[in-house]
Amino acid sequence: MPLEFKRSWNGEEVDAFRNNWARFVEAEMAPHDEEARHRGHVGHELWRRAGELGFLCVDIPEEWGGAGGDFRHEAVLHEEMARRALGGMSIGVHSIAAHYLLNHGTDDQKRRYLPRLAKGELVGAIAMTEPGAGSDLQALRTRAEKRGNQYAITGQKTFISNGYLAGLIVVVSKTDPAERARGISLMLVETQDCPGFRVGRLLDKIGKKSQDTAELFFDEVTVPAENLLGEVEGKGFYQLMDDLPYERMLIGVGALAAMEGAYAATLDYVRQRQAFGQAIADFQNTRFKLAEVATQIAVGRAFIDSCVEKLLANELDAATAAMAKLWASEAEGRVVDELLQLHGGYGYMNEFLIGRMYADARIARIYGGANEIMKEVIARAL
Ligand SMILES: Cc1cc2nc3c(=O)[nH]c(=O)nc-3n(C[C@H](O)[C@H](O)[C@H](O)COP(=O)(O)OP(=O)(O)OC[C@H]3O[C@@H](n4cnc5c(N)ncnc54)[C@H](O)[C@@H]3O)c2cc1C
Repeated sequence: MPLEFKRSWNGEEVDAFRNNWARFVEAEMAPHDEEARHRGHVGHELWRRAGELGFLCVDIPEEWGGAGGDFRHEAVLHEEMARRALGGMSIGVHSIAAHYLLNHGTDDQKRRYLPRLAKGELVGAIAMTEPGAGSDLQALRTRAEKRGNQYAITGQKTFISNGYLAGLIVVVSKTDPAERARGISLMLVETQDCPGFRVGRLLDKIGKKSQDTAELFFDEVTVPAENLLGEVEGKGFYQLMDDLPYERMLIGVGALAAMEGAYAATLDYVRQRQAFGQAIADFQNTRFKLAEVATQIAVGRAFIDSCVEKLLANELDAATAAMAKLWASEAEGRVVDELLQLHGGYGYMNEFLIGRMYADARIARIYGGANEIMKEVIARAL
């Protein structure tokens, strides 16, 4: 019987959801991926289709327009895209933006935005990083200045996922520039007909080619005071911190699923490719490499699943979530590299899944908090 990497958290209902989503991914996402990779974004239509079919905000309660599921459903979305190297829709960022609203927004903010995010009418983005502030987020300079019952936002952001297609951006801003963490607030900016807002370059990345990663410019963008998340200034940093385990687990589950997808594709490839009168799969080196990879996936599955279970029970601490992100993203890099080698020159071609995965995998060690920052978080908890 072939090796199977079963999830501890799967069940009949989650399996059915996975099948529906996988069908959507195969039928409506995969066929357009090459075009999206050349264009640099997937377009609004795909987001709207996903929303129409109930595949967005899957873990947001139904009363706010979501599908009423939990982290397992969210994980399934990421897994099925990651195992096929379809990284164009940054559903993770979209869902994290929805979570900020759900967990910290006023009822009015939830009512205004969550149903539209769930329908894909608005694509969500989170704008933290600036040219001068990445890992050191507290050094950010984007300013939201209170003027009467409005805020005027001025600043520049970079590397923003979904930045080109975004209809709603959570802009991490300073409401009190004299403070570091306590001066940070999250502002909700609707991009349509928004004077002073501008999308800059769609950035030319080495991987995740179909995902729109953009520069954003804010020049005296005014929003009503009700667009301050939670309507209390200076809470932004803590609101961001609160959702970090969720965010890091999305990267962790995606990285492990990418390893599984790469392993399955490589097994198929080495069984049919011949050299020296035998299948590549029959060389001892190939068999040992695949045995090592299968072992890493099996061990990783046990750890990642235990983290998923803890997250579902609301018991996942920041350091363990950081371990999941750190371990899975490092393992993904190593494993995909080893598996690419077994493809020979074909592995270096974009038309092969493994080649696209190789380039896509590199970012997982950098975003969502660079892995050096993960080690800091873990070390502080020792
Ligand atoms: C494709 C892509 C998508 C992204 N999406 C988003 C998004 O949607 N929203 C958003 O806000 N940002 C996004 N980012 C930005 C990403 O989160 C940052 O790139 C990341 O946090 C690192 O910041 P930086 O690039 O400024 O690197 P720096 O902070 O300059 O780090 C450079 C190096 O120094 C190391 N370093 C920094 N501080 C320490 C320390 N204290 N100890 C040890 N080493 C340290 C880092 O680990 C890294 O290796 C994205 C980036 C990319 C490339």
